[in-house]
Amino acid sequence: MGSSIRLTGTAASPGYAEGPVFRLTSHAAAYRPRATPDEEIEGLTEAIGTASAHLADLIDGTSGEAADMLEFQLAMLSDDSLASPAFVAIRAGAAADRAWSDALDAEIAGYESSDDAYFRARSADLKDIRQQVLDALTAAHGPAAPSGAILFGEDIAPTRFLATDWSKGGGIALTMGSSASHVAMLARARGVPMVVGLTSAVTAPAGVALLDAEHGGVVLEPAADEMEAFRRAAEAYRARRRVAEDAVARPASSANGIRVRTMVNIAHPSDVERIDIATCDGVGLMRTEFLFGTTLPDEETQYRAYRAVLDWAAGRPVTIRTADAGGDKPVPGLTVEEGNPFLGLRGIRLSLARPDIFRLQIRALLRAATHGDLKVMFPMIAVPEEYTQACALFAEEAAALDAAGVAHRMPPLGIMVEVPSVAIAPELFADAAFLSIGSNDLTQYVMAAARDNTAVAALNRVTNPAVLRLIEAVATFGRDNRIPVSLCGDAGGDPAAIPALLQAGLRDLSVAPAQLALAKAAISGVTV
Ligand code: PEP
Ligand code: MG
Repeated sequence: MGSSIRLTGTAASPGYAEGPVFRLTSHAAAYRPRATPDEEIEGLTEAIGTASAHLADLIDGTSGEAADMLEFQLAMLSDDSLASPAFVAIRAGAAADRAWSDALDAEIAGYESSDDAYFRARSADLKDIRQQVLDALTAAHGPAAPSGAILFGEDIAPTRFLATDWSKGGGIALTMGSSASHVAMLARARGVPMVVGLTSAVTAPAGVALLDAEHGGVVLEPAADEMEAFRRAAEAYRARRRVAEDAVARPASSANGIRVRTMVNIAHPSDVERIDIATCDGVGLMRTEFLFGTTLPDEETQYRAYRAVLDWAAGRPVTIRTADAGGDKPVPGLTVEEGNPFLGLRGIRLSLARPDIFRLQIRALLRAATHGDLKVMFPMIAVPEEYTQACALFAEEAAALDAAGVAHRMPPLGIMVEVPSVAIAPELFADAAFLSIGSNDLTQYVMAAARDNTAVAALNRVTNPAVLRLIEAVATFGRDNRIPVSLCGDAGGDPAAIPALLQAGLRDLSVAPAQLALAKAAISGVTV
């Protein structure tokens, strides 16, 4: 042993990777200003063009949320108002790199201090754009990472991630970063191991690094025995994954043969492209608020999106949830700014407050229902009146479609169980066609620990006896009254939580697609 350096952090995308350290640095310092302001302006204009062309190339090879993000960045870069303060500064004598950085820094500061979570989240995109143009200005993209390298640094831009070749392995180790970032989402989707928030400000020495993104750590300059232990752990992890991959092909059942329906959670119709319908029992939750990106989708756009998922499901059940905008999912033009958005106007509360927007979604759902086994559920239901009102709107829109001779079907209408009032008194909701437990919100509301606040993450546990008792009560209520009960929060895909959920009586889970294999493997190990 001796000189190795161990850093601990948080696993943001699971897996193991071993490879040479590649330092992520910015190359802005290399800029050499041109002779005149006119030439500087020309240089910056060209650099913006180069960065835009690079984004357009990246868009070609991506889909889903990554493509949405790149399109947002391209739209920002194409907006003249972004660069105009930089051009003004260059005319006043500033160098192009400084002028661009200052203009973007001012914009980023504005986004970061916004009360609106949507804009705060978008500041990462602006930082990414800032770096892309600086790279183009200095023609210093830096060397590409060798294949299989561990990219080590403060943070990594999503476009840098997308431009990296991950086909030979490799991983990401960050001293800052967050598991809720765009890059973390991309890393999970591509299976690239990633650790964030590493506890040390050391500059990683060149040489081999061992990245353990199962437990959250990295070893720099490992000794021979550390290398050996790491390889054993990595092999054990791969073996567990193989078992899981094996399990994914079969319907899930417990060790004693009890069938557990295992469905997937999706947010965008393109999410299903990577999922083989034969590996799951349908869609347990389609979160539609993500369709409400930067503009509100019209009825036709929504109808096509819902129909695409029903067509893919080929007769298996698909549960689509009406928009759960608000909380940590702001939608420009729909959600309102609030001091405490998790306890505010979100989900069904907002839909009922904006019937103009809700009715469009209802019509699209009624029409799509003719194309498969559609069920519709309402998020954030707290009192029975909300369910009754939402059902009445469905009935009104169905009557209007009838009168207009438009093909439609009334789907079963159910509710999410994520507000404690419903879990405590489920008998008030006996009219609902089905119940789906949203353990993410139920846990945060029962434990008074925000789901997006790492400082209270230790309290935010679905396995807390108080949360489990409510889940069990809802499962029992459903069984006694013949009302189907499922669970669609992230806990359903967490191998550590699955035994407790099955013991609580659940037999129907809906999980993130990336968790499907591990969830099925975990189910097969439980005796209930
Ligand atoms: C939940 O709260 O568990 C849930 C599935 O809904 P969302 O995560 O979209 O709030
Ligand atoms: Mg929820």
